[in-house]
Amino acid sequence: MRKNIVAGNWKMNKNLQEGIAFAQELQVAIADNDKVKCEVIISTPFIHLASVSAAIDTKKINVAAQNCADKASGAYTGEVSAAMVASTGAKYVILGHSERRSYYGETDAILKEKTVLALANELKPIFCIGETKEERESNKHFDVVKTQIENALFELSAADFGKIVLAYEPVWAIGTGLTATSAQAQEMHAFIRKTIADKYGKEVADNTSILYGGSCNPGNAKELFSCPDIDGGLIGGASLKVADFMGVIAGME
Ligand code: PEP
Repeated sequence: MRKNIVAGNWKMNKNLQEGIAFAQELQVAIADNDKVKCEVIISTPFIHLASVSAAIDTKKINVAAQNCADKASGAYTGEVSAAMVASTGAKYVILGHSERRSYYGETDAILKEKTVLALANELKPIFCIGETKEERESNKHFDVVKTQIENALFELSAADFGKIVLAYEPVWAIGTGLTATSAQAQEMHAFIRKTIADKYGKEVADNTSILYGGSCNPGNAKELFSCPDIDGGLIGGASLKVADFMGVIAGME
């Protein structure tokens, strides 16, 4: 069956020393808390991956990158390949975050290449999808999300698709303090699972973890995570302090 996961996305926050200290503090908090009912992931800036992985027990906390290149290697100054990410000990990579799509022009076609390279290097993508406010208000949200999934992921084999974690992140809820209601989130998660079932069958769909992201915090995590098709969260702001992140993790019962 699918896993429950709570993944923190630090974005461009924390220097190396702060990142290591956070990871070690989180490890202690998790060890002291027998109520942790999910896999825990922290997604650090590239430059922290190796040091953070070395500073903690990565069987207890998994480490993720926030991106990887759409090329395998070569003359791409400033880029970081999936193979390089994997060599640090990271097991996951966030792909298609709305900030990457909107600020850095990442298209479905680029994300398709990144996904293939991540999988070829045994990294599990946490693949983000989600509609803008305008798209929801014009009732295009289901079509938008379906197209994002189809364009980037539906040429994968069922075996490869089975390695993907999806994160539904309505763009209007990211970093805004506006959260999708649990009814809105559940409705979209059920739609995503049906979209997967129609393509790959019920077993693959039932085994796919679909996370919610968008202003999830200790106060709303429990209600969101109790929805039948919500398997955890991708957490931005509330992943930057251990107490907040533990509060979100405690929402998974
Ligand atoms: C995110 O950036 O993935 C995210 C969900 O951010 P926040 O929790 O701050 O809305």
